[in-house]
Amino acid sequence: MISCPRLTLVERIAAQVLRDHEITQLPVCPIEIAERNDITVEGMSSGQAGCSGMLVRNGDNFGILYSTDVKNVGFQRFSVAHELGHYFLPEHTENVLRNGQHISKAGFSSSDAYEREADLFGAALLMPKSLFRIACERVPEGLEGVLQLAQQCQTSITASAINYAKMTDAPVAVILSVYGKVKCCFQSDNMKRAHVGWCQKGDVVPGCSVTASILCGNTPYLGEPIYGETDLQDWFGCDRPQPAREEATRLHWPGEVLTLLFAAGLPDDDRYLDEEDDEEDLVESWTRRFKR
Ligand SMILES: [Zn+2]
Repeated sequence: MISCPRLTLVERIAAQVLRDHEITQLPVCPIEIAERNDITVEGMSSGQAGCSGMLVRNGDNFGILYSTDVKNVGFQRFSVAHELGHYFLPEHTENVLRNGQHISKAGFSSSDAYEREADLFGAALLMPKSLFRIACERVPEGLEGVLQLAQQCQTSITASAINYAKMTDAPVAVILSVYGKVKCCFQSDNMKRAHVGWCQKGDVVPGCSVTASILCGNTPYLGEPIYGETDLQDWFGCDRPQPAREEATRLHWPGEVLTLLFAAGLPDDDRYLDEEDDEEDLVESWTRRFKR
Protein backbone atom coordinates (compact mmCIF):
# COMPACT_ATOMS: atom_id res chain seq x y z
CA MET A 1 0.00 0.00 0.00
CA ILE A 2 1.19 3.52 -0.71
CA SER A 3 0.26 6.44 1.52
CA CYS A 4 1.75 9.30 -0.48
CA PRO A 5 1.94 9.88 -4.25
CA ARG A 6 5.31 9.07 -5.89
CA LEU A 7 5.61 12.08 -8.21
CA THR A 8 9.02 11.35 -9.74
CA LEU A 9 8.18 7.70 -10.43
CA VAL A 10 4.80 8.62 -11.94
CA GLU A 11 6.33 11.21 -14.28
CA ARG A 12 9.10 8.81 -15.31
CA ILE A 13 6.65 6.05 -16.23
CA ALA A 14 4.38 8.44 -18.16
CA ALA A 15 7.42 9.66 -20.13
CA GLN A 16 8.41 6.05 -20.84
CA VAL A 17 4.92 5.25 -22.14
CA LEU A 18 5.15 8.25 -24.50
CA ARG A 19 8.59 7.10 -25.72
CA ASP A 20 7.39 3.52 -26.20
CA HIS A 21 4.56 4.80 -28.38
CA GLU A 22 6.79 7.32 -30.17
CA ILE A 23 4.51 10.24 -29.30
CA THR A 24 6.22 13.58 -29.82
CA GLN A 25 3.44 16.12 -30.28
CA LEU A 26 0.22 17.43 -28.79
CA PRO A 27 -2.49 16.38 -28.39
CA VAL A 28 -1.67 12.96 -26.93
CA CYS A 29 -4.53 10.52 -27.51
CA PRO A 30 -4.98 8.21 -24.48
CA ILE A 31 -7.52 6.07 -26.33
CA GLU A 32 -4.95 5.26 -28.99
CA ILE A 33 -2.42 4.29 -26.31
CA ALA A 34 -5.02 2.07 -24.61
CA GLU A 35 -5.94 0.32 -27.85
CA ARG A 36 -2.29 -0.27 -28.73
CA ASN A 37 -2.09 -2.11 -25.38
CA ASP A 38 -5.18 -4.21 -26.23
CA ILE A 39 -7.32 -2.31 -23.72
CA THR A 40 -10.89 -1.79 -24.89
CA VAL A 41 -12.21 1.75 -24.30
CA GLU A 42 -15.90 2.64 -24.24
CA GLY A 43 -18.03 5.55 -23.06
CA MET A 44 -20.81 5.00 -20.54
CA SER A 45 -23.35 6.93 -18.51
CA SER A 46 -22.48 6.18 -14.90
CA GLY A 47 -25.35 8.03 -13.27
CA GLN A 48 -23.04 8.55 -10.27
CA ALA A 49 -22.05 12.10 -9.39
CA GLY A 50 -18.27 12.46 -9.43
CA CYS A 51 -17.59 9.14 -11.19
CA SER A 52 -15.18 9.78 -14.06
CA GLY A 53 -14.58 6.25 -15.25
CA MET A 54 -13.72 2.63 -14.49
CA LEU A 55 -10.91 0.18 -15.05
CA VAL A 56 -12.12 -3.42 -15.31
CA ARG A 57 -10.18 -6.66 -15.47
CA ASN A 58 -11.22 -10.10 -16.62
CA GLY A 59 -8.27 -12.49 -16.38
CA ASP A 60 -5.53 -10.89 -18.44
CA ASN A 61 -7.93 -8.63 -20.32
CA PHE A 62 -8.42 -4.98 -19.34
CA GLY A 63 -11.09 -2.50 -20.31
CA ILE A 64 -11.67 1.20 -19.62
CA LEU A 65 -15.08 2.80 -19.33
CA TYR A 66 -15.22 6.59 -19.22
CA SER A 67 -18.17 8.65 -18.09
CA THR A 68 -20.11 10.44 -20.80
CA ASP A 69 -22.18 12.31 -18.17
CA VAL A 70 -19.81 15.24 -18.58
CA LYS A 71 -20.12 16.37 -22.19
CA ASN A 72 -16.55 17.54 -22.54
CA VAL A 73 -13.95 15.75 -24.66
CA GLY A 74 -11.07 17.07 -22.55
CA PHE A 75 -12.60 15.73 -19.33
CA GLN A 76 -13.33 12.37 -20.97
CA ARG A 77 -9.79 12.01 -22.34
CA PHE A 78 -8.32 12.93 -18.97
CA SER A 79 -10.54 10.25 -17.41
CA VAL A 80 -9.14 7.64 -19.82
CA ALA A 81 -5.57 8.80 -19.06
CA HIS A 82 -6.33 8.47 -15.31
CA GLU A 83 -7.40 4.82 -15.85
CA LEU A 84 -4.22 4.20 -17.85
CA GLY A 85 -2.37 5.37 -14.74
CA HIS A 86 -3.91 2.51 -12.77
CA TYR A 87 -2.89 0.15 -15.59
CA PHE A 88 0.73 1.28 -16.00
CA LEU A 89 1.77 2.31 -12.47
CA PRO A 90 3.30 -0.29 -10.15
CA GLU A 91 1.12 -1.66 -7.30
CA HIS A 92 -2.06 -0.15 -8.76
CA THR A 93 -3.74 -3.15 -10.34
CA GLU A 94 -3.10 -5.25 -7.22
CA ASN A 95 -4.58 -2.60 -4.93
CA VAL A 96 -7.36 -0.88 -6.86
CA LEU A 97 -8.64 -3.90 -8.82
CA ARG A 98 -9.20 -6.32 -5.98
CA ASN A 99 -12.80 -6.94 -7.09
CA GLY A 100 -11.99 -6.91 -10.80
CA GLN A 101 -13.14 -3.33 -11.22
CA HIS A 102 -12.23 0.12 -9.96
CA ILE A 103 -14.46 3.19 -10.02
CA SER A 104 -12.51 6.43 -10.33
CA LYS A 105 -13.03 10.02 -9.31
CA ALA A 106 -10.46 11.72 -11.49
CA GLY A 107 -9.92 15.46 -11.11
CA PHE A 108 -7.45 16.20 -8.31
CA SER A 109 -10.00 16.29 -5.51
CA SER A 110 -9.59 12.77 -4.09
CA SER A 111 -7.42 12.24 -1.00
CA ASP A 112 -6.67 8.61 -1.95
CA ALA A 113 -2.99 8.17 -2.88
CA TYR A 114 -3.75 5.83 -5.79
CA GLU A 115 -6.30 8.25 -7.21
CA ARG A 116 -3.86 11.13 -6.89
CA GLU A 117 -1.12 9.13 -8.59
CA ALA A 118 -3.50 8.28 -11.45
CA ASP A 119 -4.37 12.00 -11.77
CA LEU A 120 -0.68 12.91 -11.86
CA PHE A 121 -0.06 10.20 -14.45
CA GLY A 122 -2.94 11.52 -16.58
CA ALA A 123 -1.50 15.03 -16.44
CA ALA A 124 2.04 13.86 -17.25
CA LEU A 125 0.79 11.71 -20.13
CA LEU A 126 -1.44 14.34 -21.78
CA MET A 127 0.79 17.33 -20.96
CA PRO A 128 4.43 16.17 -21.25
CA LYS A 129 6.71 18.78 -19.65
CA SER A 130 8.76 19.72 -22.71
CA LEU A 131 5.75 20.09 -25.04
CA PHE A 132 3.59 21.80 -22.43
CA ARG A 133 6.30 24.35 -21.61
CA ILE A 134 6.46 25.41 -25.26
CA ALA A 135 2.65 25.57 -25.45
CA CYS A 136 2.57 27.71 -22.28
CA GLU A 137 4.87 30.31 -23.84
CA ARG A 138 2.48 30.75 -26.77
CA VAL A 139 -0.76 31.43 -24.90
CA PRO A 140 -1.92 34.56 -23.05
CA GLU A 141 -1.40 34.74 -19.29
CA GLY A 142 -4.25 33.63 -17.05
CA LEU A 143 -7.44 31.65 -17.39
CA GLU A 144 -7.78 32.50 -21.07
CA GLY A 145 -4.39 30.84 -21.63
CA VAL A 146 -5.39 27.84 -19.49
CA LEU A 147 -8.51 27.35 -21.63
CA GLN A 148 -6.39 27.45 -24.77
CA LEU A 149 -3.98 24.90 -23.27
CA ALA A 150 -6.89 22.61 -22.40
CA GLN A 151 -8.00 22.89 -26.02
CA GLN A 152 -4.53 22.20 -27.42
CA CYS A 153 -3.84 19.26 -25.11
CA GLN A 154 -7.44 18.01 -25.26
CA THR A 155 -7.52 17.62 -21.51
CA SER A 156 -9.54 18.93 -18.58
CA ILE A 157 -9.49 22.60 -17.58
CA THR A 158 -8.51 21.66 -14.01
CA ALA A 159 -5.53 19.53 -15.07
CA SER A 160 -4.39 22.25 -17.49
CA ALA A 161 -4.61 24.92 -14.77
CA ILE A 162 -2.59 22.87 -12.28
CA ASN A 163 0.09 22.16 -14.88
CA TYR A 164 0.07 25.84 -15.85
CA ALA A 165 0.80 26.78 -12.22
CA LYS A 166 3.76 24.39 -12.25
CA MET A 167 5.23 25.91 -15.41
CA THR A 168 4.50 29.63 -15.29
CA ASP A 169 6.82 32.36 -14.04
CA ALA A 170 3.83 34.31 -12.72
CA PRO A 171 3.02 34.33 -8.98
CA VAL A 172 -0.27 32.43 -9.30
CA ALA A 173 -2.45 30.15 -7.18
CA VAL A 174 -4.94 27.66 -8.61
CA ILE A 175 -7.85 26.75 -6.37
CA LEU A 176 -10.54 24.15 -6.98
CA SER A 177 -13.68 24.65 -4.86
CA VAL A 178 -17.06 22.96 -4.61
CA TYR A 179 -20.08 24.88 -3.33
CA GLY A 180 -17.80 27.55 -1.93
CA LYS A 181 -15.45 25.20 -0.04
CA VAL A 182 -11.84 24.64 -1.08
CA LYS A 183 -11.06 21.16 -2.40
CA CYS A 184 -7.41 21.76 -3.23
CA CYS A 185 -4.87 24.52 -3.85
CA PHE A 186 -1.73 24.68 -5.97
CA GLN A 187 0.75 27.55 -6.12
CA SER A 188 3.42 28.41 -8.68
CA ASP A 189 7.02 28.52 -7.47
CA ASN A 190 7.04 32.30 -7.34
CA MET A 191 3.83 32.39 -5.34
CA LYS A 192 5.31 29.90 -2.84
CA ARG A 193 8.42 32.04 -2.50
CA ALA A 194 6.31 35.05 -1.58
CA HIS A 195 5.09 33.17 1.55
CA VAL A 196 1.54 34.43 1.26
CA GLY A 197 0.15 31.47 3.22
CA TRP A 198 -2.13 28.70 2.03
CA CYS A 199 -5.76 27.64 2.10
CA GLN A 200 -6.75 24.20 3.27
CA LYS A 201 -9.35 21.69 2.25
CA GLY A 202 -12.71 22.79 3.68
CA ASP A 203 -11.83 26.51 3.93
CA VAL A 204 -14.67 28.76 2.78
CA VAL A 205 -13.92 31.00 -0.23
CA PRO A 206 -14.17 34.75 0.53
CA GLY A 207 -17.76 35.95 0.27
CA CYS A 208 -16.79 39.02 -1.74
CA SER A 209 -14.88 37.04 -4.39
CA VAL A 210 -16.00 36.43 -7.97
CA THR A 211 -15.66 32.73 -7.15
CA ALA A 212 -18.43 33.12 -4.56
CA SER A 213 -20.48 35.23 -6.99
CA ILE A 214 -20.55 32.33 -9.50
CA LEU A 215 -22.43 30.31 -6.89
CA CYS A 216 -24.80 33.18 -6.14
CA GLY A 217 -26.39 33.39 -9.54
CA ASN A 218 -23.57 34.93 -11.56
CA THR A 219 -23.15 31.69 -13.49
CA PRO A 220 -21.68 32.14 -16.94
CA TYR A 221 -21.50 29.10 -19.19
CA LEU A 222 -18.85 26.46 -18.66
CA GLY A 223 -15.36 27.77 -19.28
CA GLU A 224 -16.34 31.46 -19.52
CA PRO A 225 -13.90 33.40 -17.35
CA ILE A 226 -15.08 36.16 -15.03
CA TYR A 227 -12.66 38.62 -13.51
CA GLY A 228 -12.31 40.64 -10.33
CA GLU A 229 -9.96 42.14 -7.77
CA THR A 230 -9.29 40.36 -4.50
CA ASP A 231 -6.82 40.21 -1.62
CA LEU A 232 -4.70 37.14 -0.84
CA GLN A 233 -5.14 37.90 2.87
CA ASP A 234 -8.80 36.87 2.51
CA TRP A 235 -7.80 33.58 0.86
CA PHE A 236 -4.57 32.58 2.57
CA GLY A 237 -4.47 34.54 5.81
CA CYS A 238 -1.15 36.26 5.07
CA ASP A 239 0.15 38.87 7.53
CA ARG A 240 -0.56 41.93 5.43
CA PRO A 241 -2.82 42.88 2.51
CA GLN A 242 -1.65 41.52 -0.84
CA PRO A 243 -3.76 42.70 -3.81
CA ALA A 244 -4.41 40.13 -6.51
CA ARG A 245 -6.34 39.62 -9.72
CA GLU A 246 -8.98 36.90 -9.55
CA GLU A 247 -10.12 34.88 -12.56
CA ALA A 248 -12.73 32.14 -12.13
CA THR A 249 -14.92 29.85 -14.15
CA ARG A 250 -17.63 27.31 -13.50
CA LEU A 251 -16.61 23.68 -14.16
CA HIS A 252 -18.45 20.51 -15.15
CA TRP A 253 -19.85 19.25 -11.85
CA PRO A 254 -22.52 21.23 -9.96
CA GLY A 255 -21.00 23.80 -7.60
CA GLU A 256 -17.47 23.26 -8.91
CA VAL A 257 -15.41 26.41 -9.61
CA LEU A 258 -11.81 26.87 -10.74
CA THR A 259 -10.06 30.04 -9.52
CA LEU A 260 -6.74 31.60 -10.50
CA LEU A 261 -5.26 34.29 -8.22
CA PHE A 262 -2.44 36.46 -9.61
CA ALA A 263 -0.55 38.40 -6.95
CA ALA A 264 0.23 41.98 -7.94
CA GLY A 265 3.73 43.38 -7.51
CA LEU A 266 5.54 40.10 -6.82
CA PRO A 267 8.65 39.07 -8.80
CA ASP A 268 8.21 36.63 -11.64
CA ASP A 269 11.77 35.40 -12.16
CA ASP A 270 14.19 33.03 -10.42
CA ARG A 271 11.65 30.29 -10.79
CA TYR A 272 13.61 27.10 -10.89
CA LEU A 273 13.55 24.61 -8.05
CA ASP A 274 15.29 21.27 -8.34
CA GLU A 275 13.19 18.13 -8.66
CA GLU A 276 13.70 17.10 -5.04
CA ASP A 277 12.47 20.45 -3.71
CA ASP A 278 9.57 20.33 -6.13
CA GLU A 279 8.48 16.95 -4.84
CA GLU A 280 8.85 18.02 -1.22
CA ASP A 281 6.69 21.06 -1.93
CA LEU A 282 4.03 18.93 -3.52
CA VAL A 283 3.97 16.43 -0.67
CA GLU A 284 3.84 19.31 1.80
CA SER A 285 0.89 20.83 -0.02
CA TRP A 286 -0.97 17.52 0.06
CA THR A 287 -0.35 17.18 3.74
CA ARG A 288 -1.80 20.62 4.28
CA ARG A 289 -4.75 19.99 2.04
CA PHE A 290 -5.82 16.71 3.51
CA LYS A 291 -5.04 17.09 7.15
CA ARG A 292 -8.66 17.97 7.83
ZN1 LIG B 1 -8.96 5.89 -10.25
